Amino acid sequence: GDASLDIDVVVIGAGPGGYTAAAKAAQLGHSVIIVEKEELGGVCLNVGCIPSKALISVAHTYETMSHAADMGISANDVKVEFAKVQEYKNSVISKLVSGVGSLLKGNKVQVFRGEAMFISENEVRLFNEQESPRYRFKHCIIATGSRPIELKTFPFSGRIMSSTGALSLSEVPKSLVVIGGGYIGMELGQVYAKFGSKVTIIEGSDTILPGFEKDLTQLVSKNLQKYEVDVFTGAKAEGAEQTDKDVTVTFSVGGEQKKVTADYVLVTVGRRPNTDGDLGLDLLNMKLTDRGYIEVDNQGRTSVPNIYAIGDIVAGPALAHKAYYEARTAAEALSGMPSIVDYKCIPLVVFTDPEISSVGLSETEAKAKGMNVVVGKYPFSANGRAISMNATEGFVKLVGDKDTGLVLGCQIAGIEASNLIAEIGLAIEMGATLEDVYLTIHAHPTLGELTYDAAEMALHKMKKK
Ligand code: FAD
Repeated sequence: GDASLDIDVVVIGAGPGGYTAAAKAAQLGHSVIIVEKEELGGVCLNVGCIPSKALISVAHTYETMSHAADMGISANDVKVEFAKVQEYKNSVISKLVSGVGSLLKGNKVQVFRGEAMFISENEVRLFNEQESPRYRFKHCIIATGSRPIELKTFPFSGRIMSSTGALSLSEVPKSLVVIGGGYIGMELGQVYAKFGSKVTIIEGSDTILPGFEKDLTQLVSKNLQKYEVDVFTGAKAEGAEQTDKDVTVTFSVGGEQKKVTADYVLVTVGRRPNTDGDLGLDLLNMKLTDRGYIEVDNQGRTSVPNIYAIGDIVAGPALAHKAYYEARTAAEALSGMPSIVDYKCIPLVVFTDPEISSVGLSETEAKAKGMNVVVGKYPFSANGRAISMNATEGFVKLVGDKDTGLVLGCQIAGIEASNLIAEIGLAIEMGATLEDVYLTIHAHPTLGELTYDAAEMALHKMKKK
């Protein structure tokens, strides 16, 4: 059919950005449809955050059981049945994907399958196998996300794979080369290293996890040595040659050519926004940045005023919680509310071992802004709960303004760093001081006490002047 339907809000893409925006817009009283060409939940639920964290949890459990003797448990012959691991991972995904379906249904958002294409500033056409209906809208929210960057020298096929392939291998590879030492490569590389793969990491800059401070990333590097992971930084991957048994990667480091042969190569060198292709943005003359992101104002509005864009297709860190945040803002903005985005407090988390996280300013960043900085740093090895968990690696580093006492930022390396960072995000959002954190009663014995202890260290330094 060629039916046409009038609707308040059309959302394109049902990833974290899209499904959140759709539910929110519906709650604000609009009639809403969402269109998705693949699976509800987008990258995050199907081939991103969730499956990677499921595998990380399994690898962590395996490692803990293998070393349970330290805690007085004898667990002999701990084995990984990877086909069952994959079943577990898939069960986690389906629970969450069906949750998204319920969320949309509960908010009376209609879901349509197919690929959306703009035909005007007020109309999209949806292509699927049966039909190509058109939808007229007052407002549209584009949330088409991103995909892995494919290098010409490492096309995704056979033994060369993106993160998507690495999440659904049917067995633990004997060996794996990871090109790109960003968070996705490090998380997945470490998972397979824990499962017993011989892992080699090739990273272009002079450190893994570029963008994080060295005192955090060096703990991850140290841990990788435990699994005999070979890490080459300042290295350039040049090409690959596949046979039916393996793949050989050529790379250069320090002026020297090297080769490494492995079962698979995982290429994680960044992601590209889905603004090209058949979406039809050129027809609308929508403004894009030179890197292909959609240009938006601080409410998420594009250069076409009734169309908004959120998530990985707009600039900034490609993270699900950034997509959620922009989704809420855009849904409120198109409802006439004065909401705007403010990225001061976006937490960055890497789910490696140890986990690392950061929110607000680092010491280096605060100093670069000319601020008078005070730092309180406190080790996990002095925390009772961490010791009882046999997880004493890492520290909490709290950054404050020495003149005003305001909390400026926090960096954490250690177990549960991903969860611990939330408190300091709230502190910064609320304009809390180091003293506020110190005066908050934290339960004992908990990892939560680490932020309190770091605040006390910083306050102590402030008093000494
Ligand atoms: P997406 O999730 O990419 O969803 C876009 C959707 O739009 C897709 O379902 C797509 O099929 C659909 N679509 C595209 N074009 C069309 C069209 N024309 N018509 C209809 N539908 C269309 N982030 C975190 O915060 N924490 C993590 O731990 C984390 N781990 C990650 C691990 C991996 C391996 C990867 C790859 C990513 C990870 N991310 C993580 C990033 C996170 O997945 C993304 O930031 C997030 O999914 C972006 O959400 P989005 O809504 O912008 O787009």
